[in-house]
Amino acid sequence: MSRGKEKLTPLMHRVLQTLSENQVHLTADEILNHLDDVGRATVYRALDRLCEQGIINRLSLEGGTSVYEYVREPHMHFICRQCGNLYDIHAEFSLPLEQIVAKCGHSVMKTDVTAYGICKNCLMAESN
Ligand SMILES: [Zn+2]
Ligand SMILES: [Zn+2]
Repeated sequence: MSRGKEKLTPLMHRVLQTLSENQVHLTADEILNHLDDVGRATVYRALDRLCEQGIINRLSLEGGTSVYEYVREPHMHFICRQCGNLYDIHAEFSLPLEQIVAKCGHSVMKTDVTAYGICKNCLMAESN
């Protein structure tokens, strides 16, 4: 597989626009709803290519669904085991994950950190 930056197709631009306008994590179905004039397989192909290029992220949730997000800046994720919500966590790591892995001699293309637990909303609902 070539590592060179591919030119974005008009459809890829529309996918990116959909993701950045909605500012959330969208499932493939939600993206398809926004692009209902395009065939399913074509949209999936565009999503795959954007993931390969690291322009968007595919996150696998525990139930087996995947959500997509436009990569603005590196961040980690928190997934609530109770309500299934996905939260973006922006935090300073003392040492970037890339550097930790690089110290072992590997070359990092992408990092993906996800924490699991019970979110604050669910905790609050429980304590009431
Ligand atoms: Zn929750
Ligand atoms: Zn995110």
